[in-house]
This record gives sequence, C-alpha cells and structure tokens, in this order.
Amino acid sequence: MSKEYALTAPYYVYRIAFRSLDIPKLRASHWIPSFPHNAREIWVKQRQIRDLLLAIEPGAQWEKHEARMCPQCHRWVVGIQAQMMREREQRARLKGEASSPCSDYCEARSGLTLKNLRRLLAPKAPES
Ligand SMILES: [Zn+2]
Repeated sequence: MSKEYALTAPYYVYRIAFRSLDIPKLRASHWIPSFPHNAREIWVKQRQIRDLLLAIEPGAQWEKHEARMCPQCHRWVVGIQAQMMREREQRARLKGEASSPCSDYCEARSGLTLKNLRRLLAPKAPES
C-alpha cells in the first residue's frame, strides 16, 4: 500500500456497550476523546482492545464504524460524515489542494486564538 493511499484509506473504530458489567478503565490513548465514554459505553480505536473487552463480557453489544479526524481542527467524526470527509480529502489530494474545513465551526476552532480574541476586545483606533 502506498503512503498516498494510506493517508486516505478508511479508518475504523468500534463502539462497545456493556450490558451487565462496568468497562475497565483504559488508557486514554485507547479510546476516542469527544465520543460518549462512560462505565458502560466506550469507543475504541483498536480491534485488539475490542476483542479484549468482548472477552470480558461476551454478550456486549458492539459495532464497527468508519471514523475520521479533521486534519485542520482535529475533531473526530463518525459514519457517513467520516466517509464524506475522506472523499473530500481524496478529491483535494488529487487536485493538489489543501483539504477544506469539515464544518462551519472548523475554521473558528482552529483559527480563533487567544491573541485574536484579545484583538477583538481591543479598543478600536479612531478613524481619521
Ligand atoms: Zn475541522
């Protein structure tokens, strides 16, 4: 697999929901921040972790979903949104363009720094 292809290959994650036990505490790097995470529900990145959790509770419910992190604002999206983001990245890459923002909030999140916020609050120079 070429590196170019790997960059836009689909990436899958797993949602696991326990029915009767609590999910053991996992290292933060094994689950996905910003997705639901509690004693009975978790989203994990690796199939091996999924298998371990299913060994703990064989009756647990689980699903596989495509997931993607926006390269600009680092927000994770899942399912059809992830698929659409991947397709946009593929098209942009083919045209040699930078990938577009994932949403209306993308730019704000990546671009509005503390410095910019201070500038918004700063008194305006009198017009001449
Ligand atoms: Zn984004």
